[in-house]
Amino acid sequence: MKRIYLDYAATTPVHDEVVQAMTPHWSEHFGNPSSIYSYGQEAKGTIEDAREKVAELIGASPEEIVFTSGGTEADNFAIKGTAFAAKKGKHIITSGIEHHAIHETCSFLERHGFEVTYLPVDGHGLVDANALGEAITKETILVSVMHANNEVGTVQPIAALAAIAREAGVYFHSDAVQTVGHIPTDVNELGVDLLSISAHKLYGPKGVGALYVRKGTRLVPFMHGGGQERNRRGGTENVPGIAGFGKAAEIAAKETPEEAERLTVFRQRLIEGILGTIDDSRLNGHPEQRLPNNVNVSIDYVEGESMLLNLDLEGICASTGSACSSASLEASHVLLAMGLAHEQAHASLRFTMGKWTEAEHVDRVLEVLPPIVTRLRAMSPLLKSRQ
Ligand code: PLP
Repeated sequence: MKRIYLDYAATTPVHDEVVQAMTPHWSEHFGNPSSIYSYGQEAKGTIEDAREKVAELIGASPEEIVFTSGGTEADNFAIKGTAFAAKKGKHIITSGIEHHAIHETCSFLERHGFEVTYLPVDGHGLVDANALGEAITKETILVSVMHANNEVGTVQPIAALAAIAREAGVYFHSDAVQTVGHIPTDVNELGVDLLSISAHKLYGPKGVGALYVRKGTRLVPFMHGGGQERNRRGGTENVPGIAGFGKAAEIAAKETPEEAERLTVFRQRLIEGILGTIDDSRLNGHPEQRLPNNVNVSIDYVEGESMLLNLDLEGICASTGSACSSASLEASHVLLAMGLAHEQAHASLRFTMGKWTEAEHVDRVLEVLPPIVTRLRAMSPLLKSRQ
């Protein structure tokens, strides 16, 4: 059975050209970028070339890009880096639907004397700009709101939110792990000071990412060690990973707008197909302001995990939400924050599409999902208790 992969938000396959770009950097061009002889300088050149490509993808200058080990580190760096650099003020504002990389970092800081406000979201997962304005105090040092949510795909009005923070003289960070390479993302159009990226979400390798740091932003180094990354992140660089990230960024810069249009057609077909054939199903997230590749639905009276396992038996790989929470069986904090009841939050299913998704994959989901739901509902104690 040929498997159908519909979990691109968890991770993407590495593009062939990315693999090719990485290959020479394992054993041929293996030098340490800090070495002054030719092997080292070649490796350094590779890093600087990749830095230019990543910068270009998001409209930044190369010196504003700091390579990290991924999105989680970029998020940690942005929040702890600005928190510990602040001369006065210990208040951070974020939203209730951020990735664990943000929430856990904020919890850590709360245990170290910082105060964190978690902004509510509406039923579509949108942060209210007025609520942000009201939450900012003289103590506020940073606002962090994600560009698009990894579970429900809602894209936030970042430019409007960042403008409010800027007006108040507060730094603005956005976790753009799900948007860079998927929708056009420009740091100047968005007006952000800090922005997190992860290579493995845009057909690059795992374990590499970047934090965009606007020139002049006060930030303490994240990793103490050598003077790499202009003293902002010590440690010998992941040269093959960075080379791959650069290639992935170069490809994304060319292909993103067209790919987004192609996936939007599939997205709508899948949403309409599911809602049209399965009773008591609803779309989670914003109907229009959402990622082109994201479909998240709740299907009443069935557990998301049961649907996943049954889809897997049909060769279809999907998710209930974030990769991190799928092992824990806890209801999604994102869906709960959007006002869904626990049963509805447990009945969610997420399909995320990408470069190798074809129309027939969408058709196959629409063919196998309704009978799976019918079968599961026939056994459902949730449904029986309602009858
Ligand atoms: N932020 C968001 C929105 C994500 O979706 C993810 C990964 O799922 C991360 C951060 C973490 O990125 P990484 O896997 O590169 O650490």
